[in-house]
Amino acid sequence: MRFIRFQFKDQPARQGWILDDKVGEIEGDFFSEYRRLKAEIPLDEVRLLAPCQPGKIICVGRNYADHAREMGNEVPKVPLIFMKPPSSVINPGETILLPPQSKQVEHEAELVAVIGKRGRHIAADQAREIIFGYTIGNDITARDLQKSDGQWTRAKGFDTFCPFGPWIDTEFDPADALITCRVSGQPRQMGSTRDMVFNIGTLVAFVSSVMTLEPGDLIFTGTPAGIGPLLDGDDVTVEIEGLGTLTNPVGKE
Ligand code: ZN
Repeated sequence: MRFIRFQFKDQPARQGWILDDKVGEIEGDFFSEYRRLKAEIPLDEVRLLAPCQPGKIICVGRNYADHAREMGNEVPKVPLIFMKPPSSVINPGETILLPPQSKQVEHEAELVAVIGKRGRHIAADQAREIIFGYTIGNDITARDLQKSDGQWTRAKGFDTFCPFGPWIDTEFDPADALITCRVSGQPRQMGSTRDMVFNIGTLVAFVSSVMTLEPGDLIFTGTPAGIGPLLDGDDVTVEIEGLGTLTNPVGKE
């Protein structure tokens, strides 16, 4: 099942689900109790929003060996985690804004796990039980500031630096899916989720040994090699096999 948040005409944002090329409303909340209403709104007539409003956005650095290598880093011995603020979220199709403080803003195509249940100290082999589904993310990064600051909060935290969506797929299998990124039609990144250094179960166990995970929290699972710059006027598309595509234009702040 694919779950979304959407706007239809000038009505307020609401949760929905997709059946073929139609959208149905959700009564209640898809993270807890809900009822699916009949899918009868044409998909191409709704505006798709970021599919949930995360309380926490936890990201994993250097989780693909070829990306760690292109950055001149070793693969970490335990997962390297950092966070992006919820204020950095934008919708599919919304513009990524290049801030004046950076001269090198880059894309990072990533598979994102969406948490569906509250949990702490979740064992790796139990992770499936608290994951609601998967979506597509772009961990936009001001690479020059990431290097100069040491801490990553500024480099990863600008407004518009967290596009994700367009839906949460509850049946997606994350074991071996191709992730690609194209910038203005040019291929940049390509990798498979099977090449993650730490798999999703291990990541959920590690993160939940630190902090309580809540419904709607996101775990960005790291990016394969091929990161590169985004320029004013570009558009960036992240595609994950079996999950869909996420496209955002790029502009100046
Ligand atoms: Zn990343």
